[in-house]
Amino acid sequence: MVGFEYPTQPHIRRHGPGGYKDYESFRDWLRDEFTFRCVYCLHREQWYGRGVTFHIDHSTPVMDDPQGECEYSNLAYACATCNEAKKAILNVPNPCLVAFHDCLRIMADGHVEALNANGKKLEQALGLNRPSNLRYRSRWMRSLEALRTKEPDLYREFMGFPEGLPDLRKKHVPSNTKPEGVENCYFALRERHELPDPDPHVILRKGEKNLSGRAFFP
Ligand SMILES: [Zn+2]
Repeated sequence: MVGFEYPTQPHIRRHGPGGYKDYESFRDWLRDEFTFRCVYCLHREQWYGRGVTFHIDHSTPVMDDPQGECEYSNLAYACATCNEAKKAILNVPNPCLVAFHDCLRIMADGHVEALNANGKKLEQALGLNRPSNLRYRSRWMRSLEALRTKEPDLYREFMGFPEGLPDLRKKHVPSNTKPEGVENCYFALRERHELPDPDPHVILRKGEKNLSGRAFFP
């Protein structure tokens, strides 16, 4: 389904910033890390427009592990709706440990089907089949399919990258265990004309892997 394929592998982190005293400082790293979209429901920054509706998600809630508040490995990028739903719920599957493609499938009508126990936990904790979420997802799926076939340029805008890509090479960060990652941040890829192109003529079929390994943009 266009725009709604979960990753077939657990996410492998490309960046390793550390030492910030507040977790908001990780925002641009996480945006780039998780390709500017919510790890849970796959909604993209480009679909919201103004960039303020995304939260920093703590895989293990801060209440349960205060040490993890500013640990990059405990942080993910999520839309406000998913982050609010998840809040203090424990043991929600971590996208860096579990391939969500094995857990969840999005059906043609927008419903989310849980494929295993992890999927069930995700579906329930995040309220993925709540009527409001279902309506919103279904509307996006129909819109993207219409754009893909009739308005390819607009389709590229919605499926592409935000204008304001962060240049992670210029970030001041106290420490970084993966300094090489900044050379492949999406800002740098754009400079080198290597950004993945959301080609409206290419759709990933079920079970097909994204060969770039960098982005999930079909
Ligand atoms: Zn979400």
